[in-house]
Amino acid sequence: MLQVSLGCSHNKCTYCAMYDDPSQKFRVKPLAQVRTDVGDAAAYAASGLTIRRVFLCDGDALILPTDHLLEILQMLRDQIPSVRRVGIYGDARSILRKSPAELQQLQQAGLGIVYHGVESGDDQVLERIVKGSTAGEAIAAAHLLRGAGIRHSVMVMLGIGGQERSVEHAVATARILTAMDPPFVGALTTTVVPNTPLAAEQDAGEFVLPDQWGLLAELRTILAESTFTRCRFHANHASNYLPLSLNLPADQQRGLEQLDRVLQNRDEDDLRPEYLRGL
Ligand code: SF4
Repeated sequence: MLQVSLGCSHNKCTYCAMYDDPSQKFRVKPLAQVRTDVGDAAAYAASGLTIRRVFLCDGDALILPTDHLLEILQMLRDQIPSVRRVGIYGDARSILRKSPAELQQLQQAGLGIVYHGVESGDDQVLERIVKGSTAGEAIAAAHLLRGAGIRHSVMVMLGIGGQERSVEHAVATARILTAMDPPFVGALTTTVVPNTPLAAEQDAGEFVLPDQWGLLAELRTILAESTFTRCRFHANHASNYLPLSLNLPADQQRGLEQLDRVLQNRDEDDLRPEYLRGL
């Protein structure tokens, strides 16, 4: 984990408390400091540890200017040649700010994968959670990354539409995933974090998270109604009630059968116990 920025330049998503503290206000870490960190990591690697993967953080570090990122990628190549893959968090805003040529330059300099919290394909939900981008923009971002040869790992959130828009959220999320066709998808379960705007909505009765069966029904809809060329689909995050890890499209039927069995039985013993669930 190489910190190249602090906080998140958006910092408005209603469910997120990652960078709440004023000390975590978004700022770019000076290149001189990053250079020192890379030097330290290189010295550590020279003592016998092989560093193959580097992740550039915080929040949406892809928002940094392209020249700045290129310089960091060059530092990594020069000082830690064992690195095979560099990943970064990005969102539709930060991806779309880059031109196809800039993304290609980043890919050629070693940027291999962008992790992108899409959360939902439903524009009403995206607006309500203040995601800062629309479904159409997320699809355009996916096409830009593909064109540049950068892999795309997309996260969606079960339950983020609440009970009220559960069906619309799941159907639209299947639709957006089909249109984006990313090689990696992670389906996480919404956790309402205290002191967030989402928690305030929950307290006011304006947001009701679907129960575990409702959340799994959303997962079933997403799995049944999406199509992929070739996708590693994970729903095994610690927040999920039923861990699933599928190669799609090959494993689609197996996943649906497993979900149908659990949804028909409605036996809590089939689910990950609450005490083992986490954010
Ligand atoms: S973009 Fe990510 S880090 Fe930033 S506020 Fe939204 S969820 Fe939090």
